[in-house]
Amino acid sequence: MRLGSYYDGNGALRACALARESTLLDLAAADESLPTELLTVVNHLADLAPRIEQLIGQTPADACVPLETVQLGPPFQPGKIIGIGLNYRDHAAETGQALPDFPTVFAKFPNAVTGPSEPIRLPASSAQVDYEGELGAVIGRRSRAVPQSEALAVVAGYVIVNDVSARDVQNRTSQWTLGKSFDSFAPIGPFLVTADEIPDPQRLALAVRVNGELVQDSTTANMVFSVAELVCLLSEIITLEPGDLITTGTPGGVGAARVPPLFLHDGDVVEVAIERLGMLRNPVTAALGVS
Ligand code: ZN
Repeated sequence: MRLGSYYDGNGALRACALARESTLLDLAAADESLPTELLTVVNHLADLAPRIEQLIGQTPADACVPLETVQLGPPFQPGKIIGIGLNYRDHAAETGQALPDFPTVFAKFPNAVTGPSEPIRLPASSAQVDYEGELGAVIGRRSRAVPQSEALAVVAGYVIVNDVSARDVQNRTSQWTLGKSFDSFAPIGPFLVTADEIPDPQRLALAVRVNGELVQDSTTANMVFSVAELVCLLSEIITLEPGDLITTGTPGGVGAARVPPLFLHDGDVVEVAIERLGMLRNPVTAALGVS
């Protein structure tokens, strides 16, 4: 299933499922016992999935919304966003760093979340805003000390993440969190694709384009620590909750490592595509009040 959220006429987000290629099914309109917030659906996904699949099959007309008439928002509001640094062999090489023995973990605060087509807003305090196309794993149930062999079973599904990063702010200190956490620096979506559709998250092609030019072109097979390893390692330390998002690192080709560097400017468009998950397509705009 492809689950998401769209903005209704009042600007409120409503949980939906992709019923057909160009049709959304509003879950609560189809069955008033279903939640209007997708995070609640994620919390109870195992219980609710059969009913949602049944409704997708029926596609009741009064609950259907043509996709082209609405804007998708972030599919859900994550709790924790756990970022993983240097998790692709080619990205570690281009930044001149050795392959890590343990994942580099940083926080990305949830205020950064934005939708799959909403603007990335350039902050006035950075001149080095960069893209990072990433696979995001969404936790589906409360988990602690999960063995690696069982780790994928606690993943509800996957989203695309653009881990937008202000390099000058990120590298001001050894701690990356501030440079990763400006408002709008975490476009996610377009849908949460449930894990049953992604049996092997380590076999997905990933590509990023800036203004149509291919800048990242890799596969999740190049990760240093797999999704299952990350869930296992993180859950030894952190209780993972439904709706927590692990953004699993980016491959080579980021703007800061290019010669000359390629940072984002007002008017640019960044596309992040991952096989079977779709595409984020975010315009880049100057911050409000800054020209
Ligand atoms: Zn990243």
